[in-house]
Amino acid sequence: MSRRTGFFFDEHCFWHAAGLHALVLPFGGWLQPPSSAGHAESPESKRRLKSLMDVSGLSQRLRLSSAPMAAEEDLLRVHPADYLQRFKAMSDAGHGELGEEAQVGPGTYEIARLSAGLAVAAVDAVLRGELDNAYALSRPPGHHCLPDRGLGFCYLANIAIAVETARARHGVKRVAVLDWDVHHGNGTQTIFYERDDVLTLSIHQENCFPLGQGHPDERGQGRGLGYNLNIPLLPGSGDDAYRYAMERLILPALERFRPELIVVACGLDANGVDPLARMLLHSESFRSLTTLVRDAADRLCNGRLVMVHEGGYAEAYVPFCGHAVIEVLAGVRTAVSDPFLPMLEGQQPSAEARAFQRQCIDRLATRFELDV
Ligand code: ZN
Repeated sequence: MSRRTGFFFDEHCFWHAAGLHALVLPFGGWLQPPSSAGHAESPESKRRLKSLMDVSGLSQRLRLSSAPMAAEEDLLRVHPADYLQRFKAMSDAGHGELGEEAQVGPGTYEIARLSAGLAVAAVDAVLRGELDNAYALSRPPGHHCLPDRGLGFCYLANIAIAVETARARHGVKRVAVLDWDVHHGNGTQTIFYERDDVLTLSIHQENCFPLGQGHPDERGQGRGLGYNLNIPLLPGSGDDAYRYAMERLILPALERFRPELIVVACGLDANGVDPLARMLLHSESFRSLTTLVRDAADRLCNGRLVMVHEGGYAEAYVPFCGHAVIEVLAGVRTAVSDPFLPMLEGQQPSAEARAFQRQCIDRLATRFELDV
């Protein structure tokens, strides 16, 4: 069944640059200055996703649009005014550091507001019923950002801003945020940690980034106790572990919570060739995960599903993963076939490793009392 799927993007989002880096570190000392690729968080993986959508014909099946920058009142629901002022001053000066791995370049403030604005507009259009579902190609990403501190290439908490705006404008009461970026969704977790109206779920590589965070014992606090679920997976987990975790942990948690809207922090960096993580997913894994969450949204919230782009640093491969995700959202299958798929399918963990990974996930189910 084809759907009215929105795709929110803007060329300006590709024009943010954090300065000269080799992978994620400023060069110097023993680290040689970068080649042309420079910083891992470059626009290229995002731009190539859009390019692939254009040549495959997928773009033509979607409702494409940009959006205004997120309004100041929308930002202020999540970020304190002095943080925003500090951010704007650095951006106007053309350089600065808002936190660990959150370097600011010329115009970063306006571009980050636009990135958040794409997420706000995507959620708004779905809640208005203008679209069935939507994908926001936000850049810079948002899920590591704390209210008063940038972190890990993130300057504004895009999804939290969109969720809070949806609550204020549309009176939405229960929102689930599923974060399948390979890194822990620490910012979203922190912002909603004491809340029982926003369920935050993060499936990530154990102890990858931020170091030492994303433990299963972090379950929320006060009213929010039980409304945060961390699912750390072992490095080297592949298609089977992710699907099993989805069926065993994530879908039951969503069924219990009964959200009115599901937002996915759609990082594509759990793919098998990503330079910033050690997982083994491929485009068909992302197709399966999206199908599972889309079907859950159909059952629970009239299909109201919004995906907001987060990480994904393998320039040649991210486009195939994102393309599969957006095909599923739109209910369209184009002629694109993933040329890396045979290699990555061949590199999946052995039967023994898969069995052990499933045992670890079973132990989490017991710990979360999802079995009762
Ligand atoms: Zn990531």
